[in-house]
Amino acid sequence: MEFMREFPDDAACLDWLWRERHAPDGHTTFCPKCDRSRRFHKVADRPAWDCDSCGYHLHPLAGTIFHKSSTSLHLWFYTMFLISQTRCGISAKQLERELGVTYKTAWRMFNLIRNQLMDESDGEPLSGDVEVDETYVGGKPRAYQSRTSHRARVGRTWRKETVLGLVERGGRVKVVHLPDRGGVGIKATIHEHVLPESMIFTDEWPVYHGIGTGYLGHRRIQHKAKVYVDGDNHTQTVEGFFGLAKNGIRAVYHAVSAKWLQGYLNEYAWRYNRRFDREPMFTQLLERAAH
Ligand SMILES: [Zn+2]
Repeated sequence: MEFMREFPDDAACLDWLWRERHAPDGHTTFCPKCDRSRRFHKVADRPAWDCDSCGYHLHPLAGTIFHKSSTSLHLWFYTMFLISQTRCGISAKQLERELGVTYKTAWRMFNLIRNQLMDESDGEPLSGDVEVDETYVGGKPRAYQSRTSHRARVGRTWRKETVLGLVERGGRVKVVHLPDRGGVGIKATIHEHVLPESMIFTDEWPVYHGIGTGYLGHRRIQHKAKVYVDGDNHTQTVEGFFGLAKNGIRAVYHAVSAKWLQGYLNEYAWRYNRRFDREPMFTQLLERAAH
């Protein structure tokens, strides 16, 4: 009801984009051809506005994920609303039922939203106390894993996907699906996403050796010696985030292929990074889509 009041149809969604991207008052904006602020009017039957003086066209859909989509703008907006209203995600199957679109369409919309609107890899780097940890996602069902010999378990470990999590204590998370578990990718990822004035916390896994170079410091927790928390020396924040993301993926999406894993991780990181925000997630998603 709340959604339908604000966005009753396609025209309302298009008008929102027009105001958000071009004309906050609904009709006045800068005309590049006239090189000054002009009044614009809506073109009948087309998602465009024309300059009253010179006829220059502006297309509020241009450059957005909605451009040239065969799905109506109203369905796009409603999908973003549903995604932002749920705490732990919604599957393409649920969306298919809710919207009455095909599974393929639902899935494609989800994919664009996760990979384009929820991608924060180009955002501000992390700083302060930053915990870094790796985890593995995927592989065979757990029922198989518990009974296997050591050798078989090693064989399967390699089919799992490596995910690196970087979390500011009390702040934001970045989560990256790495092509392999080698140290080169891990070091490069840390350098890309963490500012030099940070203190880095990791476990004692060998790939983290030497990553403190260029940083304020690097503290390692001795998990092997069964120590998990030693004062403020721990990686529990990042482990907590991994727990949320993995439970969510297991419960809502059941299984995720390597190709699409980053998109699912984006969604969990996006939610986590907005957990204290006052501005609704739906509004933030709409603004991201517009800009
Ligand atoms: Zn003009």
